[in-house]
Amino acid sequence: MTAALLDGKAFAGKLRGRIAARVAEMAAQGIVPGLAVVLVGEDPASQVYVRSKARQTVECGMRSFEHRLPAETSEAALLGLIARLNADPQVHGILVQLPLPAHLDADLVINAIAPEKDVDGFHISNAGKLATGQRAMVPCTPLGCLMMLRDHLGDLSGKSAVVVGRSNIVGKPMAQLLLRESCTVTVAHSRTADLADTCRRADILVAAVGRPQMIPGAWVKPGATVIDVGINRIPPPGTGEGKTRLVGDVDFASAVEVAGAITPVPGGVGPMTIACLLANTLTACARIHDLPDPADLTA
Ligand code: NDP
Repeated sequence: MTAALLDGKAFAGKLRGRIAARVAEMAAQGIVPGLAVVLVGEDPASQVYVRSKARQTVECGMRSFEHRLPAETSEAALLGLIARLNADPQVHGILVQLPLPAHLDADLVINAIAPEKDVDGFHISNAGKLATGQRAMVPCTPLGCLMMLRDHLGDLSGKSAVVVGRSNIVGKPMAQLLLRESCTVTVAHSRTADLADTCRRADILVAAVGRPQMIPGAWVKPGATVIDVGINRIPPPGTGEGKTRLVGDVDFASAVEVAGAITPVPGGVGPMTIACLLANTLTACARIHDLPDPADLTA
């Protein structure tokens, strides 16, 4: 069997088109959603992400506010900026790019963002609301994964889902979302005994580990839907010299022969993450202005 490819790039392009149309409707009422992105330090990968987020924000008709701060920025200065963004009526979404330099307390900083502007969905209040089934701002990467799963499988109810990884930004919220869809959810991690068998039981297998190609096709249940969140840069085969390439946490070549459907890396989950960030910014703006909730966009 050769798996169907879940094309996140095309899916995200369509979602951005729908977002742009809603933004245009809002703009006609004099409301323009605005996203502020805060980057502390010069991490090269973060710089690429921030540039891409800013470009796509503007392309969708929203306002983009970029705040680039030096690596040695103090916690007080960063918290001061967040307080100003919380109070700024032109800003509806605030994203602090992670990781932060080691001297800054990421939990403290994230929890200083006004929950209604927390478009990453990492604030403790949004995490708690998601866990207790209340209306929350949902983290972008798991939201994008869920949209692709629903699009491909329809009703997820009763399916066995295994999420490998238990981080606060991917694994845990992914598990909460799948539980909300009435899946039977297992969360695996570095201490899981017999990870291979656990994975083999999954109708839906989500890999969010950060270890290149660690899940081989032999761990995939025939016909399963595989969502590969991992983004790992590895040297080219052979001498290891030359251009590096991106691979996921799943060994695509062997998994594609067993799975029913699979996301490629790149071009799978990655593009959906930014599109969902834009959707969350639109949602935050609608809620702040008491407009109808655009929840149907990400349903
Ligand atoms: P973290 O490092 O925060 O979490 C990794 C998780 O994997 C941990 O729960 C860890 O377990 C688990 N783990 C590590 N080694 C093993 C192992 N050998 N077997 C089983 N589980 C293991 O990573 P993130 O959640 O932030 O990111 C995961 C991956 O997703 C990364 O490659 C990242 O780049 C990518 N990513 C992609 C995004 C996208 O837009 N496509 C967005 C965000 C992340 P334990 O808790 O026990 O240590």
